Amino acid sequence: MRALVTGGAGFIGSHLCDGLAAAGYEVVCIDDLSSGCPENLAALLADGRAELRVADARDPVAVAAAGRVDRVFHLAAPASPPRYLGRPVDTISTCFEATLRALELADKTGARVVVASSSEVYGEPDEHPQREETLGRVDPVGPRACYQEGKRAAEALATSFAGAGRADVRIARIFNTYGPRMREDDGRVISSFAARAVRGEPLEVAGDGRQTRSFCYVTDMVRGLLALADAPNAGAGPVNLGNPEEVEILALANRVIAVADSSSEIVFGAPAPGDPTRRKPDTSRARRLLGFAPEIDLETGLAHTLAALTGRVL
Ligand code: NAD
Repeated sequence: MRALVTGGAGFIGSHLCDGLAAAGYEVVCIDDLSSGCPENLAALLADGRAELRVADARDPVAVAAAGRVDRVFHLAAPASPPRYLGRPVDTISTCFEATLRALELADKTGARVVVASSSEVYGEPDEHPQREETLGRVDPVGPRACYQEGKRAAEALATSFAGAGRADVRIARIFNTYGPRMREDDGRVISSFAARAVRGEPLEVAGDGRQTRSFCYVTDMVRGLLALADAPNAGAGPVNLGNPEEVEILALANRVIAVADSSSEIVFGAPAPGDPTRRKPDTSRARRLLGFAPEIDLETGLAHTLAALTGRVL
């Protein structure tokens, strides 16, 4: 079996490549290295279990050149808020055009395609926790529209290919994921808290810190993505993938400090624009269709993440 992973040099993508290689797949990655890096794939590249093609996933020639594949995992997108807010046009165009390319390749090769969507499609939802049926509340001209509407368009595109019988589609609505290989500068909450705690610098909590998130350790996410690709009956509808354990951001800061055994203080900053107040996946669909349940709790996941940052072996 041969798999294409777009965004394969990134955080989730590289762990997914590890999982695919371990399952015996031949892996080819397309990544423009805008936030990913070849070091994330070092072990796989060294022994030839993965190939990295540095290209834009919007480029039809580069994507078609991946050739015959059995699976396409489409993860390429500017994914962290500072990155997507800094290049909004690139973000929305990547969300649409690169998804179109991935679907066209699946159409041509008969590969099953998993499209990485995001919990951001729910915006500021009226319902909590978020079920796949939750329609979400997104402002098309709001501060995060380039990403939120980009991911919604990617889902609509994937659904259209499935409806037209042109591709065997899976849509993964990924909730906050963390673990080793997150970039320190990606502006996501666990990466910045962990890096600051390790250096003994203050952890800045946005607003009053009462906003919640649910954090999934990356190996659990990879199991979910692989199961979604493999399940014969998962269908083209979206599936939430994440960990339903909900934590307030202030409590998260305290847990990171405790696990890192750090002397860092907590300071409070301005609330982030467009930041949703609560986020928690209803994962019953993933449980029913894929038998998916996260296995790594927050303490364990934080310990592994911090150990990777400091080069410590647990
Ligand atoms: P990441 O930034 O580490 O990975 C994205 C990868 O895509 C990077 O390697 C980057 O270089 C590459 N890329 C970006 N634009 C590209 C383009 N035009 N052509 C080729 N490569 C391109 O982020 P991640 O957290 O691993 O995210 C992977 C996917 O999961 C993204 O689609 C993201 O939207 C989605 N997601 C992630 C999270 C999370 O918490 N990490 C949550 C929801 C959704």
